[in-house]
Amino acid sequence: MIPGARLIILGRQGAGKGTQCVRLSRHYVVPHISTGDMLRAAVRERTELGLMAKEVMDSGALVGDDIMIGIVDERLRRPDADGRGYILDGFPRTVAQAEALDKITVERPIQVVIDLDVPRDIVLARISARRVCRDCGTNYTATGNERQPWICEVCGGDVMQRDDDTPDAVNRRLDLYETQTAPLIEFYEGQGRMVVVDGVGHPDDVFRRLTAAVDAAQGVAGT
Ligand SMILES: [Zn+2]
Repeated sequence: MIPGARLIILGRQGAGKGTQCVRLSRHYVVPHISTGDMLRAAVRERTELGLMAKEVMDSGALVGDDIMIGIVDERLRRPDADGRGYILDGFPRTVAQAEALDKITVERPIQVVIDLDVPRDIVLARISARRVCRDCGTNYTATGNERQPWICEVCGGDVMQRDDDTPDAVNRRLDLYETQTAPLIEFYEGQGRMVVVDGVGHPDDVFRRLTAAVDAAQGVAGT
């Protein structure tokens, strides 16, 4: 029987984290919990914290640590996560959040924090090559040899680049990510829980590296 797992996954946008989280979630039979999904669920279900978060978001501000940690705490106490574990994606973002997370998981600590590492130039190239049909949303990858104007094979709409996928916009997001995440990586390295997994290569190979890292961490930490 495959044991559950309690993981945090970090990684640049475009590193393939979404795809790998779905596979890990199936493999270890644990929920993939992303910050955005959690917030939306709390708001939808009108929990006390969800209503507080909605008020903050409606005012155009960012939801603060206290509310966010409360929402994470509520989610991790649900039977699926409480029983088998979870994959946390997008949380924590700061050392203060990481410290609060340690407190709420003190009885069953996070087993491993994985940094899915894809070099910046590679993710920049991946994101810069993304194109999308303006009408039906079908995704494409530009090779540079497309006939212009580029017409969607599915619906005949215009295939374009999103405004926030231009190299300038992507570079700004990547800068913000490095600035935010560097202290977090240092924090988890200090605890001896950080593992860097090479995210370059075929998704099947990356997935094998990820499960090897998780299984190794569980062998050391027990379950
Ligand atoms: Zn289309």
